[in-house]
Amino acid sequence: MALEEYKRKRDFRQTPEPPPQVGKANQNRFVVQKHRATRLHYDFRLEMDGVLKSWAVPKGPSLDPADKRLAMQVEDHPVSYFDFEGIIPASNYGAGTVMVWDVGTWQPLGDAHEMLRKGDLKFRLSGKKLKGEFALVHMKSRRPGSKGTEWLLIKHRDGHVQPDYDIEQYDKSVLTKRSMCEIAGDKGSAEWESSRKAAARGGSSKNDWLADTIAKVDARKAKAAKQSGNGRKAATKRASTAKEQRASAKRTPAKAAASSRGTAVKKNSSRKKTA
Ligand code: MN
Repeated sequence: MALEEYKRKRDFRQTPEPPPQVGKANQNRFVVQKHRATRLHYDFRLEMDGVLKSWAVPKGPSLDPADKRLAMQVEDHPVSYFDFEGIIPASNYGAGTVMVWDVGTWQPLGDAHEMLRKGDLKFRLSGKKLKGEFALVHMKSRRPGSKGTEWLLIKHRDGHVQPDYDIEQYDKSVLTKRSMCEIAGDKGSAEWESSRKAAARGGSSKNDWLADTIAKVDARKAKAAKQSGNGRKAATKRASTAKEQRASAKRTPAKAAASSRGTAVKKNSSRKKTA
């Protein structure tokens, strides 16, 4: 349920992103992903209630308390997104390159649910890049028709402050040490697939949350391989479906947009791609 929007926006036959599955044990992890989509931004995600609560931060987090970073709350992501690094193929939702920019754990400074509900979430990060106390503060919408998704990500004053923090100087994945360009140069998400399998092989209880997801993905791949024999038939069917969607989009754009995530919808919605 919590991942309905995540599921609705994506075609899992096309994207290497993990399937929408709610996790079990809450390990209070956080991840920041640098995402070069239509516009570059950083996705700030906190593990909570079996999902990753997510905000898109256009300028990225800062260790300078003077920087109040706009953070647009976006749909919850599955916890298996935690180590997603790679390429989301063109024409898919969020198409572009994703880097695991920072990982670690977070501690709420108070009751997390209460603070989230009130729109004043205070927490401490223990990451590789981000450390110390921060706050996510919900902004009252000033514009009529605003979705109310605007928050500010602010560093609190403590021993981890770095005045004039310049995020551009830190363009390295904490997972693979690669720069954004190096990740973009890779073929597909092969790197992510292999790192995920390696993590599962590690067999520590920490990685249990991965096991179900991996099993499902593997089963799906096996199924896909099996079906590739009937590939032509399936392709024809898909093509005609896409054609129908385009035709229906022409007839009733609003209805088509609401009921499908077809080609026409994606092409017309740059907003969707940036999230
Ligand atoms: Mn993003």
